[in-house]
Amino acid sequence: MRVLLVEDDTMIGEVIRDTLKDESYAVDWIQDGLTVATTLKAQRYDIILLDLGLPGQDGQEILASLRARRDATPVLIITARDTLSERLRGLDGGADDYVLKPFEMEELLARMRAILRRKGGQAAPTLSNGILSLDPATQEATIRGSPAVALTGREFALLQALLIRPGAILSRATLEDHIYGWGEEVESNMVDFLIHALRRKLRNDVIQNVRGVGWRVSKGG
Ligand code: CA
Repeated sequence: MRVLLVEDDTMIGEVIRDTLKDESYAVDWIQDGLTVATTLKAQRYDIILLDLGLPGQDGQEILASLRARRDATPVLIITARDTLSERLRGLDGGADDYVLKPFEMEELLARMRAILRRKGGQAAPTLSNGILSLDPATQEATIRGSPAVALTGREFALLQALLIRPGAILSRATLEDHIYGWGEEVESNMVDFLIHALRRKLRNDVIQNVRGVGWRVSKGG
């Protein structure tokens, strides 16, 4: 999952970025409001973490222009503005959820998981295609009828990208987007390496290759 973090406070931003990286998210962090629109034109994100008080452009304005462009990327507001009118403005303005500073990282992570599940059309905490299931809280994968298997952070990130929408074919570039953030060097064979590792750990047919296009997990049944 690729996350855009918009937060001007360096200390808070560093804590969030480092925690998200530890949780296998690919994170891009920007510290002013004015570069959000151009960033979103160049890169697709699974979720935006948006502070409200920002230099350049206020978070509420950023949210409004995002939704006016019919950009449906989920937005989780992270802010110290705790008045009811601010909260209602954010949620009515198209935010998916709201976390008040100061917050525990565990709460932020849980709210992110909930938003990402809903985005994938799945209400249960575990992602599944009926055969394979993945628990984002523990990063363990289970083939039906077998014990759970622990995944590395990158194995998890790749499998999660595929399992959010079973049956959808993701290209190499899209999978790399889910694994690497800005400034991280993309290793050329990483996608092949991870898929090989996942097939060995789980089952050979767990990820299917569509020649010349990319990879998918089956829609299951
Ligand atoms: Ca701020």
